[in-house]
This record gives sequence, structure tokens and C-alpha cells, in this order.
Amino acid sequence: MISIVVPIYNEESLIEELFERTITAISKITDSFEIICVDDGSNDNTLNKLVSFHKQENRFKVLSLSRNFGHQRAILAGLSYAKGEYIGIMDGDLQDPPELFGKFYSKLENEFQVVYGIRKKRKESIIKKFAYWMFYRILKSWSEIDIHLDSGDFSMFTREVLNEMLSMPEQSVFLRGMRSWVGFRQTGVEYERNRREKGKTKYSIRKLLQLAANGIFSFSYVPIKFLGHLGITIILFSIIYAIYIIVKKLFYGNMPQGFTTLILVIIFFSGIQLVSIRILGEYIVRTYKETKKRQLFIIKDKFL
Ligand code: UDP
Ligand code: MG
Repeated sequence: MISIVVPIYNEESLIEELFERTITAISKITDSFEIICVDDGSNDNTLNKLVSFHKQENRFKVLSLSRNFGHQRAILAGLSYAKGEYIGIMDGDLQDPPELFGKFYSKLENEFQVVYGIRKKRKESIIKKFAYWMFYRILKSWSEIDIHLDSGDFSMFTREVLNEMLSMPEQSVFLRGMRSWVGFRQTGVEYERNRREKGKTKYSIRKLLQLAANGIFSFSYVPIKFLGHLGITIILFSIIYAIYIIVKKLFYGNMPQGFTTLILVIIFFSGIQLVSIRILGEYIVRTYKETKKRQLFIIKDKFL
């Protein structure tokens, strides 16, 4: 059996197409499947539409969250209800083509436990493309996991991988990182990520930055190590400068003057200290969140 998890937030204009295309694409693989749509607290007609399709086809299942918990947690809610042996994740806006699951599945059957989509061409604005490009490269070089460049959540994996992912206790959910962290045999399939046909993106620049910070802070200790490197570099500089001044004083008898320089140095290092405290604070806040151990999502209604 195959389970496909689809997070959906205010996508009323897309539900018909989502239903038709996903059912058709998955039916080509097997008749034994379930599509689990997670309504992430939509405030338009999304939930009603989903439920009416559920009445028409009971393999099209709907979970409704009590409020908007965000893309990552919505997926997690769906994953926790998936019954299949093979589990797929795709966005509800059809930017990830469901037709590709056939290819994912054939690779899973053979030798792999995880198959993920690699976005070959993004049809987005230049700024967004550049931001994504930068982010994945930073994450790759900083993080301790081997995360593939330009892979998103669009993927399919086996039950054993899902079980491992679900037993990760973290509060800050970064699925593509978690999927990579668990290991097993993984491979990517290139695809062209389509432009969104209808509706608007739910990821504002702020939310994207949050997701990016999540990826970096959850899977890397580079920011905190960086503070150490920076400190040592500054100390070295100041020692060299001190030697220079002493030598100058001994041989030429003059001390450097410079009120302006002094003020600049003080301001500069005050800035560095504040940024450092901010980075430390990020780890503290994250530790605090983890210790609170709140539930990650609340399911209000189930149409299974
Ligand atoms: N989504 C969600 N909860 C949110 C934001 C988004 O379930 O709080 C869903 C959204 O409906 C879509 C998917 O997550 O199906 C990806 O979101 P979006 O297309 O807005 O992101 P983008 O493709 O622009 O990165
Ligand atoms: Mg999208």
C-alpha cells in the first residue's frame, strides 16, 4: 500500500485538479493507496471541498488541524496517520508533479529506501532562486548531514524510514534534514518544479527565512563554532597590533593617537558582541522550546 501525504492551506482553487491528478497518477502504480490531505487550518473553502471529495472516494482521506500549524508540521500530522508500506510527500499546490511518484516507486522497489526530487529548474523569481541557491549551499557546507542540494520535501520512502523519522523527538521540524539524517540508501530524481498555477505562495520571505534558520540551527553547530573562530582571530589581530605599537614606542618614542579610531573599534566590537549574544540566544531559545515538549499539531477532525 502507498500513502501520499499532502499539506494544504487555503488552496480552494486547486482542490479539483489536485484530486483528479493525484488519484490518476497513483492509480497507475497500484489500487491499494491512500491520499492523506492535511488541511492546515484553512480559512477558505478548502476543507469543505476536501471532505466532499472524500465522500466520493474514500481512499482520499482528510485530516483537519485545529489551526494553522505550518507546512512542516502539517506534513508530520499526515505522516503519523500513514498506513502504507511506501510513503510519499508532495505539496498541495501541484508544483510537485504527482506523476513522478511512479518513478520514485520503481526505485524504492529495487534498492533504495528513500527517493527525493531534485529541482532542476525553478520557475520562480530571480531573487527567490538566488536565495534558495545560497541557502542550500550554506546548509550543505555547514551541516553535519549530507543533504542533497536543491532537494525539498517531495519524496517517497519506505515504512522503516518513516518509523525512524517519526521517532525523532524534535520540536523544530525540518523534514528534509530529518529524512537525510536517518540515512539508509537514498537517491534523487531530477524534475522541473512547475510554477504555481493558482493561488498564492504561503511562504512569505519571513517564513522562508525561518525555515532556513531551522535547517541551519537544527543540523549544524557552525554558528556557535564561528563565534570561537571570530574571537581567536580578533585576539590574534590585537596581539599583532600591540607588538607593533610597543616596537614603535621603543624605537621612535611616539604613541599613536586617535580618538576616532578608538570609538570605531568600540562600536564595531559592541556590534560583534550583540550578534554573538543573538546567536547564543538562538540556541537557548531552541533548547527552551525542546524542553517544553508541546504537541506539534492538534487534529480537530478526521475523515479516514
Ligand atoms: N502549506 C501548509 N501550511 C502553511 C503553508 C503552506 O500546509 O502554513 C502548504 C501549501 O498549501 C502548499 C504547500 O504547503 O500545498 C507548499 O506551500 P507553498 O506552495 O506556499 O510554498 P512554496 O511552494 O511557495 O515554497
Ligand atoms: Mg508551492
